Amino acid sequence: MYILMMGPPGAGKGTQAEKLVAEFPIPHISTGDMFRAAVKNGTALGKEAKKYMDAGGLVPDAVTIGIVKERLSETDCAKGFILDGFPRTEEQAVALDGILKGLNIKLTAAVNIDVPDSELISRVTGRRICKSCGATYHVKFNPPKKAGICDKCGGELFQRDDDKEATVKKRLEAYHSQTAPLITYYKKAGVYKEVDGTQQIDKVFADVVAVVKG
Ligand SMILES: [Zn+2]
Repeated sequence: MYILMMGPPGAGKGTQAEKLVAEFPIPHISTGDMFRAAVKNGTALGKEAKKYMDAGGLVPDAVTIGIVKERLSETDCAKGFILDGFPRTEEQAVALDGILKGLNIKLTAAVNIDVPDSELISRVTGRRICKSCGATYHVKFNPPKKAGICDKCGGELFQRDDDKEATVKKRLEAYHSQTAPLITYYKKAGVYKEVDGTQQIDKVFADVVAVVKG
């Protein structure tokens, strides 16, 4: 099971990846974790990546691709993996194909958890966080007993700047412009699968399992 997880921010991609890992003995490889591990282990590529991250810049493709290659070459990936957050561009998708070819691996599925923008916006903009204890709520899906007040500690709830509508819309626009070519790319490769992410979490998971099992 060599799976690529795609999906807009807020679609529940991480939750679905975690559920897959709990059900199948394959590692969940997110780009963030991979970078942190490479930096922590002090590999040559990790050191290179750290230079760019410390300077607040983007890690160049060549370094990112090298780190992905190192990670996918590890023995725990031989029987499968869930790759999350990579590739982000068509160039990276082409590079990934090269890596997989070298490892004699064929991608099983590129799974896109599809949720319409309008729902993502309502999911994200409804989030509220307690100023005192950090507990999280949602005005619609998980409201506190008393509006604006934390059930656990009585603290005041607030909305993060990141969760404001304008920010979310900007993030979604960037996501779509980046991902559209990838969808076309994986459709052409015959591995693109779409799952309706507006359903209950367990139903979404059942659909994900169904598409990755073919
Ligand atoms: Zn609280």
